[in-house]
Amino acid sequence: PQPRIFAVRASPLPPDKVVVVLREVTHERRLERMRREFVANVSHELRTPLTAIKGFVEALEDGALEDRETAQEFLQIIASETERLIRLVEDLLRLSRLESRQTFLRRQEVDLTELIGNIAPVWRRQAEKKGLIFEIDLPPGLPPVPGDPELLTQVFVNLIDNALKYTPAGKVRIRGEHQPGWVRIEVEDTGIGIPQDCLPRVFERFFRVDRARSRASGGTGLGLSIVKHIVELHGGKVGVESELGKGSRFWVYLPSPQS
Ligand code: ADP
Repeated sequence: PQPRIFAVRASPLPPDKVVVVLREVTHERRLERMRREFVANVSHELRTPLTAIKGFVEALEDGALEDRETAQEFLQIIASETERLIRLVEDLLRLSRLESRQTFLRRQEVDLTELIGNIAPVWRRQAEKKGLIFEIDLPPGLPPVPGDPELLTQVFVNLIDNALKYTPAGKVRIRGEHQPGWVRIEVEDTGIGIPQDCLPRVFERFFRVDRARSRASGGTGLGLSIVKHIVELHGGKVGVESELGKGSRFWVYLPSPQS
């Protein structure tokens, strides 16, 4: 168990008594530490691409511009690092809007079969480009869930994006199922999997199993924390089962009160 932290205030009462007030501040201190860690993480995540961009711009100024092929290569790196920064800032804004509840939950009846069907073609094309099988198995008549279609789209975009990113060969499958009061959707892949000891941490902000691999595939490390936030905002639950080298299965339960 975590140690509990107390703030102590003692006031002497003449002649020989003292009043000690203990106030537990464990939670406040923990929040404060998390905030500090978050700022340090964000600064690091911003500095890495900025340092790369600065370096390649200087190299171009120092003469690399003369060689067309080198210049082209350096410009491509600058462009992709800029893209990474944009994605990072967008994800940070999303997260901050979700956390401060500025996000307006446009609750309406959402048909998840339709919602996933709408985004599927883009992912199917991407899967085919990688030689992966992309399967959608959503039964007809899945009951609607009350929710915000834009935010729920983000959930499945992030999960499917990860499944494709971390699966070098095999299959990505989206399955849906109705359970009393709930709709369960899972995104399953035959990819690299996640080590058991990392499983409890994958929904944390900036947590990555393999930083280099995440960076190489353009990840921000924020995708799953955004997923968790949105699902919980809808009163749902999210989790993962995985086996290293075999694949992962991310599941989402969303409440469907009418069913
Ligand atoms: P990232 O932008 O790094 O993908 P996420 O928050 O989306 O950030 O995911 C956090 C980490 O969880 C990833 O860096 C990766 O290590 C692991 N991960 C997420 N989805 C999968 C998956 N389908 N297969 C294997 N590892 C995954």
